[in-house]
Formats: sequence, C-alpha cells, structure tokens
Amino acid sequence: MRILVVEDEPTLAAQLAEGLSSAGYAVDVADNGVDAHFMGDTEPVDAVVLDLGLPRMDGITVLKKWRAAGRTMPVLILTARDTWHEKVAGIDAGADDYLTKPFHMEELLARLRALIRRASGHASAELSCGPLTLDTRASRATVDGQALTLTSHEYRVLAYLMHHQGEAVSRTDLVEHIYAQDFDRDSNTVEVFIARLRKKLPPGMIETVRGLGYRLVTPQ
Ligand code: CA
Repeated sequence: MRILVVEDEPTLAAQLAEGLSSAGYAVDVADNGVDAHFMGDTEPVDAVVLDLGLPRMDGITVLKKWRAAGRTMPVLILTARDTWHEKVAGIDAGADDYLTKPFHMEELLARLRALIRRASGHASAELSCGPLTLDTRASRATVDGQALTLTSHEYRVLAYLMHHQGEAVSRTDLVEHIYAQDFDRDSNTVEVFIARLRKKLPPGMIETVRGLGYRLVTPQ
C-alpha cells in the first residue's frame, strides 16, 4: 500500500515518512500544494496524509481539485489545534478523516489502516484468506497461526493482494502500489517477490491470471 504524505514542515515530513515506512507502506512525500496535487492526480496512491497549510496551493484547494477530478482515494487531513473551521472545510472538501497536530504516530497509523481497509471493503484490521491471516496493525502474516517471515517488499506485495483478494491484480498495479515514485522500479522484481511468497504460502494461493497478473485465492 502506498501513501502520499503532504507536509511542508521538514521534520514532521521526515517523521511521517519514517513511521509509515516502518509500518510497511511505500511513501511519497510532497512539500507543497502544486507537487502534491500533481502526484495525487497521476500516481495510484492508496491514501493521503494532507497538511492544510501549504506553500504554492493550500491543502483544501488540492483536495477539492482531486475530488472534482474524480480521485477517490482516502484523505486524512492534518489541522492545527483550535481550528475547528479548518476541519469543517476539509471534511466538506472531501476529507475522510482528520487529526489535530500534534498527534501520536500510533493514532495516525490506526486511522490510516481504518481508511484503507474501508476503501477496499474490509471491516476488520485482520484480513484473512483461508489459512492466511494478515494483521495490518502489526504488519504480520500468519498461516494456521504460524508467523511468516517476510521481507518488507514481500509484505507489501502480500498486503496489496490481501486487500484485493479474489481480484486479478496486474504486475503494474503491484509495482505502483509497493514502490514510492522515486524508487528504481523494476517489474521483474515483482515476479521474484511472488515466487518467494508462493514458497511461503500454502500451494495454489497465488494464481497466475494469464495476460493479467495474479490473484490471491483460498486454497482448494
Ligand atoms: Ca504546514
């Protein structure tokens, strides 16, 4: 899952990028409204953390432009303390949730997990598919209760497939959702991650969909 962080304060932006990466997300960072608008408009991000006070274009305008263009990704806005009118304006502009600065990283992560799972139609923080369970709170996967040892990229691939289980997911989709924009992307590595995941999962769970990509299914 890929998160766009829009924050012009460098220390907070770095903390957000660090906290989100440790939680298993690919993270893109924009430090002004114009770049943020472009990235959210052109990159398939799974959620956005959006500061409202931004140079070049304010956060409310960025959000309104995304929504007017039909961009539906979940957006969590960051507001300053005692600015209830910002929250109202943000929610009216299409924000899905908000946090008031200063906030705890744990709360931000919990709210993002909730937004992402709701956007993909899941009700719980634990996703399951047959014997496989993905605990999105701990970034951990288990098969029949046994923990799987996954690299961060294997986890990202598995998390994306779990959020879209039963659907054909293309290699391009996977590349776009497991890497940030400035990462040196190579779609061949996706095949490597899939091959490694297949060895760690019960047989038959990751189907190859000819000409389309992969599909996570409950094993027979
Ligand atoms: Ca700001």
